[in-house]
Amino acid sequence: MVGRIITKVILRREGLRFPFPTDFENKVTGTQVESIRRRAKYLLIDLDDGRIILSHLGMSGRYTLFDNTKVRSYSQTENRISRFGSATGFDGRHDHVEFQFDDGSAAVYTDPRRFGIMDLIDIGEEPIHFLLENLGPEPLLAWDANQLAKALKNKSTNIKVALLDQRVVVGVGNIYACEALHRSGIHPTRSSKTLVRKDGKPTAKLSLLVEKVIEVLHQAVEVGGSSLNDFADVNGTLGYFGHHFQAYDREDGPCLKEGCGGTIERITQSGRSTFLCPRCQR
Ligand SMILES: [Zn+2]
Repeated sequence: MVGRIITKVILRREGLRFPFPTDFENKVTGTQVESIRRRAKYLLIDLDDGRIILSHLGMSGRYTLFDNTKVRSYSQTENRISRFGSATGFDGRHDHVEFQFDDGSAAVYTDPRRFGIMDLIDIGEEPIHFLLENLGPEPLLAWDANQLAKALKNKSTNIKVALLDQRVVVGVGNIYACEALHRSGIHPTRSSKTLVRKDGKPTAKLSLLVEKVIEVLHQAVEVGGSSLNDFADVNGTLGYFGHHFQAYDREDGPCLKEGCGGTIERITQSGRSTFLCPRCQR
């Protein structure tokens, strides 16, 4: 999408989780995409007029990119029905937004559950936008155990719940929290502050946890995500991190940690499934 000029926007409903911004089609048509960034799970599409399309995939959203050989133009009356069919995963029924570009290519936003977000904000508004202002640090950028220790110092919340809290650190989803805690030998129900020393410094365990969170995220990115909720990348490829789970979704299976011999259990924390080995996670 970067470098392309948006020549047409088709909206096939009033909105997703929120209504689309007023006059969204007209405001973005004619602008050029300068760059695409990410903040937590938000996509920020920088336009050359100083505005940013703020987008979130919600539970089930995806973008699929099509080159000019796959894109046909619609007449005005045909706009309502997507022509991409099964190429976007759901017979085109949930292709709610379509961006067409000057080189004939297109980006289609598909979202069966419609928890996604599409907003238009001004550049510079990111730190104060209500969806972005309280987000914690990015785990793959300048994040370390000292920062995490500071965030957890007085928290008696369970460590697993704290890891999922976007104010503590962003982007560590349920699967990755389970896996990182298993790899670092920390019990998910452990009180967060017990991982911080009296002087506010991280314990060795907390430092190991930070290391493992980063490791798990890097591995997941490498293999293209986890394919839960039919996750697919922009080319429609499914992710394969599922093949690497050591705890997640392995209830009653043997712990894979060498010499452990424990059995993976499932518990529920804040309404989410947690998988853990009670023998090697303390
Ligand atoms: Zn174990």
